[in-house]
Amino acid sequence: MTSPVPHLVTDIPGPRSRQLHAERERAVARGFGAALPVFVSHATASTLEDVDGNILIDLASGIAVTSVGAANPRVRERVSAQLDRFTHTCFMVTEYESFVRVAEWLNSHVPGDFDKRTALFSTGAEAVENAVKIARAATGRPGILVVDEAYHGRSLLTMAMTAKEHPYKTSFGPFPGDVVRVPNANPLRGEGTEAALAALEETIAEHGAEAFAALVVEPIQGEGGFVVPDAGFLAGLRRITAENGILLVVDEIQAGLGRTGRLFASEHEGIAGDLTLTAKALGAGLPLSAVTGRADVMDAVHIGGLGGTYAGNPLACEAALAVFEELEKPELLPDVRRIEETIRHHLEPLEAAIDAVADVRGRGAMMAIEFADAETLEPRADLAQRISAACHAAGVLTLTCGTFGNVIRLLPPLVIDPVVLERGLEILTDIIRSTCRAEEAAA
Ligand code: PMP
Repeated sequence: MTSPVPHLVTDIPGPRSRQLHAERERAVARGFGAALPVFVSHATASTLEDVDGNILIDLASGIAVTSVGAANPRVRERVSAQLDRFTHTCFMVTEYESFVRVAEWLNSHVPGDFDKRTALFSTGAEAVENAVKIARAATGRPGILVVDEAYHGRSLLTMAMTAKEHPYKTSFGPFPGDVVRVPNANPLRGEGTEAALAALEETIAEHGAEAFAALVVEPIQGEGGFVVPDAGFLAGLRRITAENGILLVVDEIQAGLGRTGRLFASEHEGIAGDLTLTAKALGAGLPLSAVTGRADVMDAVHIGGLGGTYAGNPLACEAALAVFEELEKPELLPDVRRIEETIRHHLEPLEAAIDAVADVRGRGAMMAIEFADAETLEPRADLAQRISAACHAAGVLTLTCGTFGNVIRLLPPLVIDPVVLERGLEILTDIIRSTCRAEEAAA
């Protein structure tokens, strides 16, 4: 880094961003939120520059998408070369090699010591929907099991699978049926692995195993609050689904592809889904998602049953091949584990020092801090929102999440400059301390 960041030359948002935001309000449907109404002009591996010339530290990666950086040179090279060749054929009309190469890479790297096939799509929700189609075709069963606090997308079926009502589902029902929710093993708020697994077994017994095609689970929940489940929960799901002929679908859309310090988050628990879903970081921002899984399950679908006009777009496939090159660099995953150490070094002391800090958790570059009342665990969304807003004003882009909105999540690019990460964390922790101390003093 040549000059220190964040580098602020106006208030955040600045005048040009404010003007563009006003124009946006007249042109864009109101339903889109904005975590930080700042308009971006450029990005580096660690920062975002806005249209007013402010440079912000990026601890969001466009929600876990720009893991290799939002301006990765290898992505640019591969995508530009593809732009010169062609932008689209539709893989269902005429084929191109990069689609096959992406499928091969995923088949050989996704957990599971079995023959695999991959289907490419565009968005995460589309991957989830197609996993359900494939699971139904392979099992001849209708139902889908999902867990509390899950997030799987905003399409009609995936809204039904997503737990949180507001803002995701409010006023959009009715939703497709045959989706049944079971408890999560949330270490802070749940009742433990044994109780959660017993509830799952009871639900399966009540409905009959033949009611369920698949259980879909995030190995670490994203929007639900970066919940790393109690040890043994994922292994328990793996065992119980296998015993009941139910397919296990692991939604690695947010946690996968290096984010947690392993290539896939399910590796931390030593499990493999029958189907594994990827998106987000896969295309480095070009829309690409995938369902990868057991060859016999994937190939249960009739020819013509899967597809989509843009599924596995050639620009996005080239971006994915560049992402794979980055993920294969020997230093990448150790760097992600160092990001976790750095974040823990800054955030963990706050747990003991500040009453309202209920938990610091996560893996790799997917870390979170939860705010709640020290005695009752009553969620403190107000604190998380205030702290996040103060970070934005100070030039650090953080996001909130969680069923109760009381969690600040950190999703830095996996290639963030360590000096920039340190600076971002110093600003964040200073703001947490000053906000919480002011409140404790007033109480
Ligand atoms: N599954 C998980 C775990 C996710 O985090 C998301 C996106 N936040 C989705 C599915 C849906 O992905 P998309 O927004 O690309 O449809």
